[in-house]
Amino acid sequence: MITVIGSINMDLVVGTNHVPDKGETTLGTSFSTFTGGKGANQAVAAARLGGEVQMIGACGTDEYGKIALASLKQENIKTDHLFLFPDETTGIASIIVSDADNRIIVVPGANNRLTPKEIDEMKDEIIKSKMVVLQLEIPSETVHSILKLCNEHHIPVVLNPAPVNHFKQKFIDIATYLTPNESECKSIFGEDIEKSLERYPNKLIVTLGEKGARFYNGEEHVFINGFKTKAVDTTGAGDTFNGSLAYSLTEGKNLEEAVKFANASASLAVEKKGAQTGMPSLEQVLSRLQ
Ligand code: ADP
Repeated sequence: MITVIGSINMDLVVGTNHVPDKGETTLGTSFSTFTGGKGANQAVAAARLGGEVQMIGACGTDEYGKIALASLKQENIKTDHLFLFPDETTGIASIIVSDADNRIIVVPGANNRLTPKEIDEMKDEIIKSKMVVLQLEIPSETVHSILKLCNEHHIPVVLNPAPVNHFKQKFIDIATYLTPNESECKSIFGEDIEKSLERYPNKLIVTLGEKGARFYNGEEHVFINGFKTKAVDTTGAGDTFNGSLAYSLTEGKNLEEAVKFANASASLAVEKKGAQTGMPSLEQVLSRLQ
């Protein structure tokens, strides 16, 4: 079982040809709502590939919460361990998409109610996992308590350090894998990516957008090329990468194979609008890998 612990949001997506400046109003070209949140996205990515996935997170009992819960269930994700808070709003992300680039404001709502206390209640479930997947859209002290728990019980953890301003240096040693993109990597470890990778062999995996991803294997730098595709919406590219990486590692693949698999999976996801819409099945990924 892969346990994804993290955020559940509704994504409110506005398309525009022009991102407004301060004080400016502009007409958008589209509006859509999608289920999202980095945690839920990663869970869907792993589940769609056929992984056995459970989600631990928190949402409100409002309409967005109901939609989010139903959509996780529809993806065959175990939701028995979700916390529902009637006095809290489900998290939302307001996303502006322009030329396949995105700008995002997240209002965490119920995600902030997933505290170390809730993790303690779920301890027995968590330590049964083959792998745990985390991001930083839940409180930092919650992330820290999960990392400590998993570390004690030798459960491997993939930690995607986004949003990076919630990252704490104390996470580094107790996470098994860290998967920042280039700018997150620089903000955590400093400008010299090469040097950072060499400090954390087989732990630090830096994603490079369409160029793929890289890590250091203890002897040499390993570059895994991305798959060329026409990107329509890169929202959730990293989430697909992380869910797919976790899936592939729990299937017994080595890091190089798993990163290649994750690149293929994420390249399929960016072909469709919305973070979860384009997340591929195992068959689709395997055919892209051929
Ligand atoms: P994030 O979405 O977290 O900012 P990246 O932009 O590095 O992270 O993307 C994560 C992964 O998604 C990349 O490592 C790559 O595999 C895939 N990816 C992202 N953008 C593209 C693209 N335009 N074409 C193909 N693959 C992409």
